[in-house]
Amino acid sequence: MNEWSIDDAEELYGVNRWGAGYYSIGENGNIQVAPNHRDQEVTIDLKEVIEEMISEGIQFPAVIRFLDILRSQVEILNETFRDTIEQAEYKGQYVGVYPVKVNQMREVVEEIIDAGEPYNYGLEAGSKPELMAVMAYNENPEALTILNGYKDEDYLTLGLLGRRLQRKMIVVIEKFSELEMLIGLSKKFGIEPLIGLRSKMMVKSQGKWASSSGERAKFGLSIAEILNAIDYLKQNDMLHTAKLLHFHIGSQLSDIRKIKEAVTEGARLYAKLVQLGVPLEYLDIGGGLGVDYDGTSSTTDSSRNYSTEEYIADVVYGVKQICDLEKVPHPNLVSESGRALTAHHSMVVTNVVGEIKAAGTPFDIKPDASEHVLVSNMRELIGEGNDLHPQERYNDAASTKESAYEAFKLGVLDLREIAKIDVMYWRILSDIHQALDTDNYVIQELEDLQNVLASQYLANFSVFQSAADTWAIGQVLPIVPVSRLHEEPKVRVSIADITCDSDGKINNYIEGTQVTPNIPMHDLRKDEGYHIGMFLTGAYQDVMGDMHNLFGRLTEVHVFSHDDEDGDFYIEEVVPGNSAAKVLETMQYNTDYMAKVVKKAVDKQIRKGNVAPREGVRWTDFYEKCLQGSTYLRTEK
Ligand SMILES: *Cc1c(COP(=O)(O)O)cnc(C)c1O
Repeated sequence: MNEWSIDDAEELYGVNRWGAGYYSIGENGNIQVAPNHRDQEVTIDLKEVIEEMISEGIQFPAVIRFLDILRSQVEILNETFRDTIEQAEYKGQYVGVYPVKVNQMREVVEEIIDAGEPYNYGLEAGSKPELMAVMAYNENPEALTILNGYKDEDYLTLGLLGRRLQRKMIVVIEKFSELEMLIGLSKKFGIEPLIGLRSKMMVKSQGKWASSSGERAKFGLSIAEILNAIDYLKQNDMLHTAKLLHFHIGSQLSDIRKIKEAVTEGARLYAKLVQLGVPLEYLDIGGGLGVDYDGTSSTTDSSRNYSTEEYIADVVYGVKQICDLEKVPHPNLVSESGRALTAHHSMVVTNVVGEIKAAGTPFDIKPDASEHVLVSNMRELIGEGNDLHPQERYNDAASTKESAYEAFKLGVLDLREIAKIDVMYWRILSDIHQALDTDNYVIQELEDLQNVLASQYLANFSVFQSAADTWAIGQVLPIVPVSRLHEEPKVRVSIADITCDSDGKINNYIEGTQVTPNIPMHDLRKDEGYHIGMFLTGAYQDVMGDMHNLFGRLTEVHVFSHDDEDGDFYIEEVVPGNSAAKVLETMQYNTDYMAKVVKKAVDKQIRKGNVAPREGVRWTDFYEKCLQGSTYLRTEK
């Protein structure tokens, strides 16, 4: 056997494959982060960040944000569009927007706006509260603000207010009635809107968001409705306000062919509308630029079979070709990439707090004189000495175990005997598994032994808070130990969380180029933390978490790279996670009242003489301290 190397770790966990140049494994076996695409020399050792967090008393789990990665992603997107537009001799410009629903965190939006300023990069809102945030943060008069989603009078009126403030605010009509309402309000206030029309596309996307397009889509206008909208605008002498054509066929588009199809359909529709005299200037291709979560560069739901460069080239050259054929001017291009912009910049770090093993419970299995024959039968299956075929041995163990449970239910076996049977059964299974070479994996049941025998590592986090999509839609996220990657990981595990929900576990792992139900990790050492990272959580996962089991939001640290600092980084900000009191209050509990009730109960025991006064005060204080404390397990001292 060859020594385990960093290359083997890379092969197993695929860090370079999904890391997009930002994440890699260092020679020291720690995950390295190179957050700045312009300066790959600046690298941050993730273990050093974690050590600094521990020394500052920050509890896990925590979200770590690398804001330089956001900046890099904004620059890459905008510069690739610029370069491609120049090479293609395309006449329009790229003026993208960031859809804030993907991650509304203020610091994220601020960083994107700041990085996007040289490119007049704007924002997209999909609801009233999002629009209110967007109005306050996108002040660049050259950048677009796109208003999507269903709208009421207030939402539309905010759009008109934006016009008063000289912003390029475009109201995208999702439904015909919005247009009637908008024109009415426009007349009432004497403010002209900028209007976008969202097309319900014919192309059907694939994957988990397929229902965002096609004739049964929830959003958008059919071609007939678009033509009606144009007539309606003409009748109201407002056709000159129609500036943008919008489509969005779904998120995480994994197949480049669907994107080309959508671009062709959208560009054709754009050209035909311009030929009809609609003074459109922008073509908005929506979101959908995928992220290669599983690193396979394929059309699986968690991957994409194209690069960002290819995506942009297909958009620019595709629109150009059709507009040239149709003899209409090239539109300015708008895209609303959210996932691809934000996924890489944040991750969740948590610590493993325990192991749940199927096999290996210490228990005395020595024979005793009066033992039942089932127990001795099982014992005969243990040990190297037996020459049964693995499958036969497995069958015998399984049937002996089954008979033993029947016997237990009939009162024939006692507790010690059934415990011995159980312990021996698992020992036999792990013996069989260890003796197997992979050639023997022809038999399905033996192949499954690996999964049956996998341990569960209990990690201090909530799947529902931090990785909602892994639970809801089977999203795959990379999960990798943060350090010790130069050591061979010898324990096959799956990760379970600390919620009281059996669904609170991760079922899909990236192992090489496969998605598997468990993955090798390192053995746990006494007195040494084992930190694992769940990567690419910056899009949707960060902000979708729920209150299941009242765990609430995680503590966050915001890391910036800086080559003058030790380790090339500094922690700029720590945002505390929700306290127990905070999450209880969102569920309408009054925590002052709760503290009072507990204090009263303690006082009563003091009066009765069951608790000493000083001890009573300590208990009251302790309860109050727990209310102010973290909802997760406190493991760091
Ligand atoms: C969600 C959404 C987006 C963002 O899509 P990504 O796949 O995350 O880029 C863009 N536009 C609209 C209209 C959306 O609903």
